[in-house]
Amino acid sequence: MSEGWKSHSRKVTPYVPGEQPKSQNLIKLNTNENPYPPSPKVEACLRNIDVSRLRLYPDPQATELTAALSNYYGVECEQVFVGNGSDEVLALAFLAFFNGDKEILFPNITYSFYDVYAELYDIKHRKVPLNEQFEIDINAYKVENGGIIFSNPNAPTSIAISVEQIEDILKANRDVVVIVDEAYVDFGAESAVDLIHQYHNLLVIHTYSKSRALAGLRLGVAIGSKELIAHLEAVKNSFNSYPIDMIAQELATVAIQDVEYFKRITSKVIQTRTYVMTELRKLGFTVADSKTNFVFVTHPTLLAKDLFEFLKTYQIYVRYFDKPFIDNHLRISIGTDEEMDQLLKHIRMYMTRQ
Ligand SMILES: *Cc1c(COP(=O)(O)O)cnc(C)c1O
Repeated sequence: MSEGWKSHSRKVTPYVPGEQPKSQNLIKLNTNENPYPPSPKVEACLRNIDVSRLRLYPDPQATELTAALSNYYGVECEQVFVGNGSDEVLALAFLAFFNGDKEILFPNITYSFYDVYAELYDIKHRKVPLNEQFEIDINAYKVENGGIIFSNPNAPTSIAISVEQIEDILKANRDVVVIVDEAYVDFGAESAVDLIHQYHNLLVIHTYSKSRALAGLRLGVAIGSKELIAHLEAVKNSFNSYPIDMIAQELATVAIQDVEYFKRITSKVIQTRTYVMTELRKLGFTVADSKTNFVFVTHPTLLAKDLFEFLKTYQIYVRYFDKPFIDNHLRISIGTDEEMDQLLKHIRMYMTRQ
């Protein structure tokens, strides 16, 4: 076949997710999934679903889910937007809000999808270096720009900035949309959600994939002023007006209401994280101050890539990024206590062999 079609087609550089190996007997600490199952209320709800209703289209407004979320966040329904995973919410937000002549700004080390979307949509962008401590450099965002996006806590560094620092960025950027991707905020950082009332250009994005233990369901949320949410809805309805399937809407509604279970599993993850950070530091690792369900580590004498390969031979998967500045770091998701003990045991084994 002729390859002529290629010159008429879109050029893309896709995002590469962490491996999803098929084997059962492995310790999977490479994609920041929750080690615990979702709320038991999700299972009960799933068992009661009336399958005959699936012949109908889902509610395009996701009315019940949106009401449950507005209740949880203490905002109005018109201030909530839902999408198929926060990746879709992010894709629609880039499409909706980043369309000017000036470059948008995001950290040079952050969630790699931002770069992918900026390239896909041909958005002018500039990557702002993190400071020496791997933190977001607040003052570097007080310059002319066409929009700002960052994750807080940041990924893969695991480090958070405070709400005051976010407000500092907002004060200097009143005429562009500022997106704060709070995928990991429930694991110990402060949310900027309350600032949406004061800053109508702020969009906060949450996901069910991490703290709600529902990565397989694909549910993401944006919270912002009515103006921003209405525009996001308009863009969504210019693309695909039925993004959330009927089953996901129902399961996500019961999941957000089970606050007690959510608190229990997030505090368990935080407790395990504290233990793992202490143990890794004892082994000589430099461990960033994590506010997420993963740790970001480096060692003065061990090569991250070699340790990554070694662990993989024992079916322990962690994440290695072959990228500038972070190519001697590992990102390790927090699993159960037993999984983390296995990880530590194998790291000790590796160290005795060096
Ligand atoms: C995991 C993650 C997402 C994507 O979450 P989904 O809701 O599963 O699409 C978005 N942003 C950051 C920073 C993440 O780590």
